[in-house]
Formats: sequence, C-alpha cells, structure tokens
Amino acid sequence: MNNCIFCKIARGEIPCHKVYEDKEILAFLDINAHALGHTVVIPKFHAVTIFNLSDEIVEKLIVAIKNTMDRIQKILEPDGFNVGWNHNPAGGQVVPHLHVHIFPRYNNDGGGSMHSIIKNPGNKSVDEVAKLFK
Ligand code: AMP
Ligand code: ZN
Repeated sequence: MNNCIFCKIARGEIPCHKVYEDKEILAFLDINAHALGHTVVIPKFHAVTIFNLSDEIVEKLIVAIKNTMDRIQKILEPDGFNVGWNHNPAGGQVVPHLHVHIFPRYNNDGGGSMHSIIKNPGNKSVDEVAKLFK
C-alpha cells in the first residue's frame, strides 16, 4: 500500500535496522524500543491482520519469527521472550500492517507477563463462555 509506513520499509523507501529477512518476511528493530532488542516482524506485502494472510504465509511468518528469535538469542543473549501482536485498535494496534512484536526479556528487567495486558474477564463465567464454544 502506497502510504503504509511498514510497506515503505519493506520496499526500502524508509530505512530500518534489519534483524532478519527472507523472501516474504522482514524483521527490524522497533524505533521505540520497549526492551533491549525489541523487534517487529512483518510480511513484506500489505496485510492489516493475520486474517488477511493465507495459511501458507502464516506458516512462513512463524518460521521467520523463530529465526528472528534465534538471531536475537545469539547476539543479545536474553533470558526469555514475550512474542505477540496487537490486533486491531481494540488490541492496541496503531500501525495497520500486521507486525509481530518480539520483546527479548532479561532477568529482573522490571517487565510483566502477557497477563499484565488485561484483567477484565467480563460478565460471563468461564463455564458460560465454554458453552458458547460447544
Ligand atoms: P503497534 O501499537 O503494535 O501498532 O506498534 C507499532 C510499532 O511500530 C511501535 O512499537 C512503533 O515504535 C513501531 N514503529 C513505528 N514506525 C517505525 C519505524 N519507522 N521503524 C521501526 N519501528 C517503527
Ligand atoms: Zn503495509
């Protein structure tokens, strides 16, 4: 997409600090790092969310995430990772081009876990929600 910042990075029109690249996927350092080595992984073509990707590209994306983590592990030697993405504005997505955040984690870095994103279980019990999936 013409005016998408991550499409521009993928096309090389805006510079980035590359961490990993293959034919379909690019990973680069986030300019507003929330952790040492904070990296985002994107498909090189425009897709707003994972629902816009074929299963084939999803498979390539997960392999690229693993390869990116592997590079970070070897170079920065973190003690752990949080990996995930903000899906749609309700999920915190600001840039409307799918990007998976990789947060390298270090012992005693002061951060939380995925569970610190939200604690608002709504007005249905877990059993009631489970019935909806039957
Ligand atoms: P999100 O809230 O998941 O949409 O996060 C978007 C992320 O993209 C933020 O962490 C930004 O710091 C990052 N970002 C925005 N522009 C750039 C850029 N030109 N290069 C690297 N990261 C960027
Ligand atoms: Zn895009």
